[in-house]
Amino acid sequence: MPQMPSAGLRARVALDRHGFRTTHALGQNFLLDDALLARLLDDAALAAEDNVLEIGPGAGVMTALMAERARRVLAVEVDERLAPVLGDVLAPCENATVVYADFLKCDVGALTARAFGDAPYRVVANLPYYITADILLRLTTCARRPASIAIMVQREAAERLLAEPGSKQWCALAATVRYYGAARVLEAVPAAAFNPPPHVDSCFLLIERYANPPVRPANEARFLRVVQAAFAMRRKTLVNNLKSAFGITADQAADVLAAAELDGRVRGEALTLAELARVSDALDQLTSR
Ligand code: SAM
Repeated sequence: MPQMPSAGLRARVALDRHGFRTTHALGQNFLLDDALLARLLDDAALAAEDNVLEIGPGAGVMTALMAERARRVLAVEVDERLAPVLGDVLAPCENATVVYADFLKCDVGALTARAFGDAPYRVVANLPYYITADILLRLTTCARRPASIAIMVQREAAERLLAEPGSKQWCALAATVRYYGAARVLEAVPAAAFNPPPHVDSCFLLIERYANPPVRPANEARFLRVVQAAFAMRRKTLVNNLKSAFGITADQAADVLAAAELDGRVRGEALTLAELARVSDALDQLTSR
C-alpha cells in the first residue's frame, strides 16, 4: 500500500497547489518540518487522552501531528485563505476541526465547552509575536483555563515571562502567568526553522497550570486587577496606582498598604505575588467596611 506523505510534505504541496502567499501582517511564519515539530510535541508531552486547542494552525503541520497523538484538536485560524490548504493537509485527520475566527474575539469558555465538553484541554500555539501577551493574558485568566499552554514566543518575551519578582523584567504579565502556572523553556528554535524566517530568535515555552495556586487571594478577580494596577505606571508608587485603578483616596490607599504590612512608598513593580495578594485582601476589607 502506498505510504501517506508526511504532514510537512502535504503542506508544502498544498501551499504550492493553492498558490498561498504568506501575509507578514498576520505573522505568518510557518513551521513545516515534521521532525522538528514532532520533537516539540514530545517536549510538550501531549498524551492520547488530551484535548488540544491550537491557536493559529497556519498550514496545519503541527495540527496534523497533534491529531495523530491526541484525542481531539480544535484549531482557530483567522485567515480563511488557508481553508483549502488546511482542507488538504488535515484530510486524513478526522479528530481535527478548524474554526475560522480571530481568537482574540472568541469566548474561550464557550468555544472549548462546545468542542471538549467538561473535559480539560491543553493549548498549543505558534502565533504572531505581537499577540503573545494578549493571548496569554486571556488564557491564564479566563473562567475555563487550560491545563497547560505550550507556546512559541520571541526569546525576549520568554525572558520577561520567566522574570523573578522585583527584577527589571518583572511585569504584570509575568506575575499573572506565575499565578497560573510554572513556566519553562522547552527548546530554542532558530529563525531558519520557519518559512519564511522571522527576524527574531524564538523559544518554545511550556506553562503548566498549578493544581494549587501559589497564593490564594480572597477575591481572584480583584487580585488580577491589583496585578494590572501595580505595574500600570511603573515610576509611580503603589499608592498612586491604587488610587487611579480603584478610585480610592490617598489616605485609603495608604491604609491598604499598612493593612498589607507594606511600606507606604513602595512601588508595585517591587512586590511578590504574596504581597500583591495581601494588597488585594486589604482592598477587600476596605470596600466591605
Ligand atoms: N502554527 C502554524 C505553524 O507553526 O506553522 C502557523 C504559525 S504562524 C506564526 C501564525 C498563525 O496564526 C498564522 O496562520 C496566522 O494567520 C494565525 N493568526 C494570526 N492572528 C490570529 C488570531 N488573532 N487568531 C487566530 N489565528 C491567528
